[in-house]
Amino acid sequence: MTRIAYVNGQYVPHDEAVVHIEDRGFQFADGVYEVIAVHQGKLIDEELHMERLERSLGELSIAWPISRRSMPVVMRQVVRRNRVHNGLLYLQVTRGVAPRNHAFPDHDHSSLVMTSRPTASFDKEAIAKGVDVITVPDIRWSRRDIKSISLLPNCLSKQQAVEAGAYEAWFIDNDGLITEGTACNAWIVTKDGELLSRKADSDILNGITRQSLIKLAEKEGVSFTERAFTPDEAKAAKEAFLTSTTSFVKPVVRIDGQSVGNGKAGSLTRRLLDFYGAHMDGQA
Ligand code: PMP
Repeated sequence: MTRIAYVNGQYVPHDEAVVHIEDRGFQFADGVYEVIAVHQGKLIDEELHMERLERSLGELSIAWPISRRSMPVVMRQVVRRNRVHNGLLYLQVTRGVAPRNHAFPDHDHSSLVMTSRPTASFDKEAIAKGVDVITVPDIRWSRRDIKSISLLPNCLSKQQAVEAGAYEAWFIDNDGLITEGTACNAWIVTKDGELLSRKADSDILNGITRQSLIKLAEKEGVSFTERAFTPDEAKAAKEAFLTSTTSFVKPVVRIDGQSVGNGKAGSLTRRLLDFYGAHMDGQA
């Protein structure tokens, strides 16, 4: 029997079920899902799953891909077309297809996919045998050193920046220290002229631009200190800037509405931008 998947309004053979490469689920993990048990042909706790889905969508400002009232119709179709008596229904809603950009797209065409498959039927005796567990540190998500596509928090914060009329958002950790931007590394030049960037451990992505700039600063005799700084320190700094492959070395002139230095690109930042421009020209 051919498995059938539902993809954005169509029931298609499972093998041919595809989503666009710029679907934000694929690009950013910008989506939500539910898994619902099918027991003797019935969707178990369906209403609770719909309530949680509504909540998840609402929290992320993702539009219903079809009306909430239509969802059970499609869910039943997917179960029926796959002839699942005991099994699972999987559904996923993402923010849809848009050119890759962290901030939300203008449209609200969210994507919806559903699959269903049979599983072993509910076996109380087998379940009652019990299982082992192990304990692990909760690393959800404390591994920012990995350039993972799991970028949902980055998208949410970038969107917040855009809505506040800002270019970027800089994250603050539980100790009140700036980690990095949603898509860049954060730097300041303190009042005493000290060039600072946070140490590249698991709390930040070790930007390639950051690494190159550190080398260039060393080569040019600019002293550099690797340490974290607070938002207050950044606001009181002489200069601030951010680095990334797409932003290069970009001066930051205001933080939370407060001018940094004289509110213009700082002189050391401009020098570093010059070094970086020459570094790129040298490779061109
Ligand atoms: N931090 C984060 C979270 C990023 O997404 C990026 C850029 N994608 C950076 C830092 C900067 O890295 P790079 O200089 O390699 O672009």
